[in-house]
Amino acid sequence: MFSIMLVFFTINDLKEHLNALKKAGKTIGFVPTMGALHEGHLSLIKRAKSESNVVVCSIFVNPLQFNDKADLEKYPRMPQEDKKMLQNSGCDILFLPSVNEMFPVIKQEKFDLGGLDKIMEGAQRPGHFNGVVQVVKRLFEIVEPSKAFFGQKDFQQLAIVKRMVKVLNMRVEIISCPIIREKDGLAMSSRNTRLNPEQRKLSVKLSEALFKAKGMRHLPLKDIATHVEENFSDLKGVKLEYFEIVNGETLTPLQKINKAENPVACIAAKFGDVRLIDNIILFD
Ligand code: AMP
Repeated sequence: MFSIMLVFFTINDLKEHLNALKKAGKTIGFVPTMGALHEGHLSLIKRAKSESNVVVCSIFVNPLQFNDKADLEKYPRMPQEDKKMLQNSGCDILFLPSVNEMFPVIKQEKFDLGGLDKIMEGAQRPGHFNGVVQVVKRLFEIVEPSKAFFGQKDFQQLAIVKRMVKVLNMRVEIISCPIIREKDGLAMSSRNTRLNPEQRKLSVKLSEALFKAKGMRHLPLKDIATHVEENFSDLKGVKLEYFEIVNGETLTPLQKINKAENPVACIAAKFGDVRLIDNIILFD
């Protein structure tokens, strides 16, 4: 059985506790989340547990990364269930700050994200990644982990966080963890709970398109894109926002699939007002 998980609400209390642990030589693994936890999140906790002495998870629905206010309001929040799941997964410390604790003054900092924020998610959600970087940077400064664990599910976010750590010379290792899927292939996401039964059925089209793209990886990229677009064209209530095959490091959209560029197929679509994203590494 795991020991009792401690819950902290303030930065000072958390820091004091973590400082004592660090002095005692413990390594800290960190998993930042926005809550409404599922098996995808828990896989990060378990990975962190296997690579660190102490696992810290944060739950903070970050207002700075929502360009759509309605989306922020509708974002699922279930702290009691989350606490139970974390405790049962071996998480040692939960950090649950309020917005006021994290940002006593709400001031958008501006980061140069080297263009990584201008395509795909960045193009659809202006300012989103700037808000992500601002909160991740603040959380890293508070927790000062040796390693931080992120899901490949948010592939572009992962690339941007890696860049931030490099540019700011932060002493944290970023660990990328595989996507956890439902039985039918849908990537787990907190937003899936907002799908109605009809949308839930259709949502499998996202992962189907990606698996198909992987199977077609030796064909011209244009043919793959056309195939995916055609598959979405007559789905009622579904809007394909983008399908791109990008370089796995620079995120530059590719014109031709070349294994050496570690191509990754990325997709986003709206099912009613629920926006879902997914991706697949084409050669692994
Ligand atoms: P979120 O709470 O959506 O901000 O996600 C917190 C972390 O969990 C991020 O690093 C996500 O990439 C990761 N994550 C979310 N869904 C999954 C999934 N299905 N599989 C693996 N990691 C995930």
